[in-house]
Amino acid sequence: MSRTIDVEALCAEKGLRITEQRRVIARVLSESQDHPDVEKLHARAAAIDSGISIATVYRTVRLFEEAGILERHDFGDGRARYEAAPEAHHDHLIDVETGKVIEFVDPEVEQLQRLIAERLGYRLVDHRMELYGVSLDRKG
Ligand SMILES: [Zn+2]
Repeated sequence: MSRTIDVEALCAEKGLRITEQRRVIARVLSESQDHPDVEKLHARAAAIDSGISIATVYRTVRLFEEAGILERHDFGDGRARYEAAPEAHHDHLIDVETGKVIEFVDPEVEQLQRLIAERLGYRLVDHRMELYGVSLDRKG
């Protein structure tokens, strides 16, 4: 979804102490729409403040994740990828050739998942769905 989530404001809301380096990392996360991994986040943060180490980025994303500010995904390549915890639920389709991540919401799928849970005797409170595909536009 194209949305910008103010990660720094979320930190304040959760009572996290915000240092200058955390502020930079929060800003990079707010501006990232592509589910970056730690290395990508580090490259973006270091472009703003070259004093930010990859260890700091690791620690900060872990802290943000524990506070519920970030969501961590594993899209099958063994790398943890991050996005600011979305206000509205969405699912992901991952292009297995390029690694591109497409976000989508489908009301019929959402409904079907609720029905499946109910049939199994549960009220659905959360779910994750990842689709893996190859583009039909690229042949050859
Ligand atoms: Zn997403």
